[in-house]
Amino acid sequence: MVHVGIGYDVHPLVPGRRLVLGGVEIPHSLGLDGHSDADALLHAITDAVLGAIGEVDIGHLFPNTDPSWKNAPSRIFLEEAARRVRARGGRIVNIDASLAAEQPKIFPHITAMKAHIATALGIAPGKVGVKATTNERLGFIGREEGIAAMAVAAVDLPE
Ligand code: MG
Repeated sequence: MVHVGIGYDVHPLVPGRRLVLGGVEIPHSLGLDGHSDADALLHAITDAVLGAIGEVDIGHLFPNTDPSWKNAPSRIFLEEAARRVRARGGRIVNIDASLAAEQPKIFPHITAMKAHIATALGIAPGKVGVKATTNERLGFIGREEGIAAMAVAAVDLPE
C-alpha cells in the first residue's frame, strides 16, 4: 500500500553562513541560518518521508537543543528517515520537492541535488523530483529574507 507524506521548511537567509540546499553548497552572499547546516530542502524531504510512515517530525527526532546536530550535514537526517522506512519493511517509491527562493538561481544545481538526495535515500535519481521557483518578489521570500522548501514522499509499506 502506498502512503504519502508532506514536508515543509523555512530557514532565514543571513550573512556569514554557507548556503546548502539539497546537500549542495551554492555560492551566494547569504546562507541559511539554523542549528544544523539549515538545508531546508533536505529537512522538508525528511519530514515528507517521516510523515509517510507516520513518525514524529524532524524537529522531534533531532532537537535543535542537542549539540550533536550543531552544524550537522542534514544528509544524516534524511538517511535516518530512509533507515526507518527500511526498518518497517517499506520502500520509497518517489520524492518530489519544490524550492521557493528569489536568489540565487537554483536550476544549475538541480542535477547535483537530485543525485545527493537519491544517494542518501538509497533510490535512483530518476525517483527524485526537485523544482525551484521564485516568489515573484512577494513576502519574506521575495525580500530574500529566507528560503522555503516543500516536499512529498510516496512510500510503499507492507499491510
Ligand atoms: Mg529546518
